Amino acid sequence: MTQWTRSGALACALLAALALVACSSNPPAPEPAQSNPAPGAAPPAPIFPPPYRFGEVQQQAPPITDGKIPVVRRIATDKPYVFITIDDGQVKDPDALRLIKESGTRPVLFLNQRYVQGHEDYFKQIVDATGATIGDHTVSHPNLRGKPYAFQHKEICDDADSFQREFGKRPTLFRPPFGTYDANTLQAAAACGMRAAVLWTAAVNDGHVQFQEGDKLRAGDIVLMHFRKTFAQDYTAFVDEAKRAGLTPVPLTDFLG
Ligand SMILES: [Zn+2]
Repeated sequence: MTQWTRSGALACALLAALALVACSSNPPAPEPAQSNPAPGAAPPAPIFPPPYRFGEVQQQAPPITDGKIPVVRRIATDKPYVFITIDDGQVKDPDALRLIKESGTRPVLFLNQRYVQGHEDYFKQIVDATGATIGDHTVSHPNLRGKPYAFQHKEICDDADSFQREFGKRPTLFRPPFGTYDANTLQAAAACGMRAAVLWTAAVNDGHVQFQEGDKLRAGDIVLMHFRKTFAQDYTAFVDEAKRAGLTPVPLTDFLG
């Protein structure tokens, strides 16, 4: 991630905002309705109303070729959609469920079994309340590149086996730790039942969204963040950047069916 530049200067942000108004072909996202509902009232509308019925597959994942799953960095779409993924599971922020639910989106949680173990209820509550999907991120977060096939196979399959047992559904999306992989990784992941290796085109760190290209999120971007102490700032930064770019976060699983 060292090649990424951090956009922080206020002047840059203002220029970017002006450029968006002038250049963007996407309509701005509507502002969320502000309300203070009485007890027992219907829950407030999500920040991003679903643009289609979530759970309906919109696009298929690229095919598995030569026994290797495809590597996906971004989603090819002409719709104003963006995708959020949340990794590892190290810090269990009690506000994560509420923040995800308020946004109305369904992230993919690429979790390591080592961080889930003993905290299954925390993640199960998020999945049940928000419709989030659990993805495979290996058991112990090693750098897989160059490791023997058997080692990689065990790290990937054991993570999926464990989540299938604990959450009742086997992951089909895989994210290699650190984004590093080799041919053995893609073969082992296919053998473990994965459909795609998911990388990213933007990341959130310390409350700031970092872009691989340009100064705003683009349609089809896959955004990486983590279960860290800065969860609230990070998730809010993602929501704000999606709104600024006129993009709606939708489930990645619907575009890698
Ligand atoms: Zn990770």
